Amino acid sequence: MTENTYDAVIIGAGVIGLAISRKLAQEGKDVLIIEEQGQIGSVTSSRNSGVIHAGVYYDKDSLKAKFCPDGNRRMYEYCVSRSVPHLNTGKFIVATSNNEIEKLEVIYDQAKSAGVIDIEKVSGNHVSTVEPLVKCVEGLYVPSSGIVDTSALMRSYLGDIEDNGGMVSYNTFLKCADLSNNLFKIIVTQNNEEIEINSHILINASGIFAEKVANNFLFLDKSNIPKTYFAKGNYFETGKNLGIKHLIYPVPNEASLGLHLGLDMGMTVRFGPDVEWTDEINYTVDIDREEMFYNDIVKYIPSIDRSLLKPGYSGIRPKLKNQGEGKSDFKIDCVKQHGIDNLINLFGMESPGLTSSLVIADYVCELVD
Ligand SMILES: Cc1cc2nc3c(=O)[nH]c(=O)nc-3n(C[C@H](O)[C@H](O)[C@H](O)COP(=O)(O)OP(=O)(O)OC[C@H]3O[C@@H](n4cnc5c(N)ncnc54)[C@H](O)[C@@H]3O)c2cc1C
Repeated sequence: MTENTYDAVIIGAGVIGLAISRKLAQEGKDVLIIEEQGQIGSVTSSRNSGVIHAGVYYDKDSLKAKFCPDGNRRMYEYCVSRSVPHLNTGKFIVATSNNEIEKLEVIYDQAKSAGVIDIEKVSGNHVSTVEPLVKCVEGLYVPSSGIVDTSALMRSYLGDIEDNGGMVSYNTFLKCADLSNNLFKIIVTQNNEEIEINSHILINASGIFAEKVANNFLFLDKSNIPKTYFAKGNYFETGKNLGIKHLIYPVPNEASLGLHLGLDMGMTVRFGPDVEWTDEINYTVDIDREEMFYNDIVKYIPSIDRSLLKPGYSGIRPKLKNQGEGKSDFKIDCVKQHGIDNLINLFGMESPGLTSSLVIADYVCELVD
């Protein structure tokens, strides 16, 4: 192997890029991760709810349904084996009006057929007994949902990568890549300098930038690149432990899982994410959204103290379907069928990408040699 030639180059040190790199490094491959920022996981992987999803909501034939329930089990096993802080809180999905009960039935059936066998129907009284602040007419209980300390998880993935000889090149920006004799010629910029790196495998795990990065693969037929739409998710924080021990989700809508109650590892309550379709990357949370948050939250926590709600952080979902076009799935594009081996583009890696990261890594590693 010559200097600057690797078995695998991964663009992006988010939770998915790290999980894939970890698996490739453990298989004995010489791995380099190219990361534009000065640290791992500082984009979408640190702008999410940190929920270990059970896999309740996804269409039966989707990649999300294929990955999530197994990803959930694998995530708990991994966290236990590596002492990554996590909590198996469980979650309630709550119907706050009679006309939402039908939707709970659909979610229940969908979850069962997707392999979430432990989901239970519960009464509104049961929910209020367990969580006295929450009011609903009926609910579902999902015992396998939980939360993970995402930063600790990513540090642990990075430790596994480094233990197996892989490394991250920080402050390094993928400019473009070409292909010659089955070797990817990757041009990156670092400190205003251009560097060429060669690799046998090229993985585009650049999250919300995946479409942009793929457009800079000079050899790639651009018709293979799906358009990405941005759906920003804003959070409002309370900064308080309100004594709530479970994640509380309203009935989901087309674009998101609903404006839910999330918990951090200190059991501090936050609400969100909502859905704000946008063309730009701007993480400011607009205080004017507070009224909409309050109106949604008060339906399932009638006694919520409105003055606690303060603008928090936000993240951006890369959606492959635009507003009103229905549910978006992951698209893990292996372009073998277009005559190029060992190139993988990961598009639309929104939720449950964190939960599914270990399983996505296995799937991707099966596609390359
Ligand atoms: C609001 C919100 C809530 C969510 N909640 C959950 C949840 O509770 N549970 C769950 O399972 N999932 C959740 N997700 C999804 C999860 O956060 C993502 O699936 C996951 O973080 C995506 O990881 P990634 O590695 O693909 O992307 P990222 O974390 O964005 O990493 C991509 C990396 O690529 C780098 N990069 C981009 N372009 C270049 C370039 N040209 N050169 C070099 N580097 C580049 C970026 O700097 C970045 O570090 C949520 C997502 C959002 C937006």
